[in-house]
Amino acid sequence: MARILIIEDEPKIASLLSDYLGHAGYEPIIAETGGGGLAVLQQQGADVVLLDLMLPDMDGLEVCKQIRAASDTPVIMVTARVEEVDRLVGLELGADDYICKPFSPREVVARVKALLRRVAALQVDSQDKADLSGLTLDEDRIEARYRGQSITLTVVEFALLKTLAERPGHIRSRQQLIDRIYNDNRVVSDRTVDSHIKKLRRKLADTFPNVEFIHSIYGAGYRFELTDNED
Ligand code: CA
Repeated sequence: MARILIIEDEPKIASLLSDYLGHAGYEPIIAETGGGGLAVLQQQGADVVLLDLMLPDMDGLEVCKQIRAASDTPVIMVTARVEEVDRLVGLELGADDYICKPFSPREVVARVKALLRRVAALQVDSQDKADLSGLTLDEDRIEARYRGQSITLTVVEFALLKTLAERPGHIRSRQQLIDRIYNDNRVVSDRTVDSHIKKLRRKLADTFPNVEFIHSIYGAGYRFELTDNED
């Protein structure tokens, strides 16, 4: 049964959502604060997070950022302001969907269902690709292995490659990569990411000149997709 974490400080809205999601066959959990929601997520996990943007203790944007830094759990942002949505999308927070208040609970259930379907499809997809790719990432030795050859990477390069390869075909923005790799809130510029990626790609290309691993997507970020022209 998919577990849906509702981070919402208005009790009426929270219990309404909880009722509808429960009736639809999901397991709803309510957290009334951002901090409480993050704690639930860490301890029990969730399949989808419904995240209200205006919370008493923390900005919903910050909550989303912290969720993203720790996991790929899909997030649906709930906002009372339609005009916010463009801004939210522009922030590249990695939220998967947006719902504006006031909403119909039925619509929320439909969105959750659609999102879970999308995630399931993606997982099947990436498993297939991971099996096909033949790339092995050895965490202990900080090495990437492919076609019987190994490449020693720096810790940052290894983390970048691993983060991208975890979801083949999936674009990661520079900010998402930064959030994943540096969890000490230090300020890291996009250029730093670009320069690490550049070195990583050079190392890979030196050993495998006919294989492409990392693609850069103009204006969006990077995507892992293994294209082998060796044969
Ligand atoms: Ca609120």
